[in-house]
Amino acid sequence: MKKVLTIILLFIVVSCGQGKRNTSEKIITVSIGPFKYFVEQIAGDDFNVNVMVPAGADPHIYEPFPEQINQLRKSVAYISNGYLGFEMNWLDRFYETNRSMKRLSLSDKIEPLVSEHAHAGNHVEGADPHYWVSPRCAIIMAGSVMNLLLVLNPSHKEKYEANYQILISRIQAIDLEAEKLFSGLTNRSFMIYHPNLGYIARDYDLEEISVEYEGKEPPPSRLKELIDNARKHGLKTIFVQKEYDTKNAKAIAEEIGAEIKIIDPLSENWETATTEIIKAVYNSLIQISI
Ligand SMILES: [Zn+2]
Repeated sequence: MKKVLTIILLFIVVSCGQGKRNTSEKIITVSIGPFKYFVEQIAGDDFNVNVMVPAGADPHIYEPFPEQINQLRKSVAYISNGYLGFEMNWLDRFYETNRSMKRLSLSDKIEPLVSEHAHAGNHVEGADPHYWVSPRCAIIMAGSVMNLLLVLNPSHKEKYEANYQILISRIQAIDLEAEKLFSGLTNRSFMIYHPNLGYIARDYDLEEISVEYEGKEPPPSRLKELIDNARKHGLKTIFVQKEYDTKNAKAIAEEIGAEIKIIDPLSENWETATTEIIKAVYNSLIQISI
């Protein structure tokens, strides 16, 4: 009997302890996976990061899960992109759900790229939301995340500043490598289904040719134009984001004898994804011989 009681008591103590630990965990909600990377690199495991649109999810038909809303209710801060279409539909509701959350838009200090084929549909018209893919923008983003973390948890200032420095030097190394790879290349145009490398193109003086037109599948007249353009530039690769259907890109690729290269800019491992993207773009450019 005594043994049974002890076990029951132990069980109660353990489950209470667990309950307590869960409620005291601080949560930061972020719009997309790559933002999680910046929080974790600077804050370590001081916060649980709740990602609204996880990698692999289709940003066009995004609907938050009940568990995400649950996490949102308990969040101390929300980090948004500022230009993503789903935020226009949801952000006000998120802030209504949790009024005490600190709010940070990572677009705040970034010079926006106003794309000529402005995104309709899942993005805000006018400003290109994909700044996080560029290392130059990532340096600014890291600073913004760092400032937020210092407000949320000032007692960990030293740790955050040290981690921030390490992160910055790693991003700078990627930037330097990209600079080195892209400088001096004669061919500087690449084609991509969903135009998410606009800031890479801007920052390293490349040309991004988008298959999508105003956020939609290209009309037949434009498809012909794209094929001509791809031939003119001697393109051998068409980039497609993991989450997107490759049908149209494949049609162009077959027509011009190019290959499809899948990239993952929504990955939660920003560093690996960005390094791979830069290498893939570089490889596609050196393949061109015209
Ligand atoms: Zn996008």
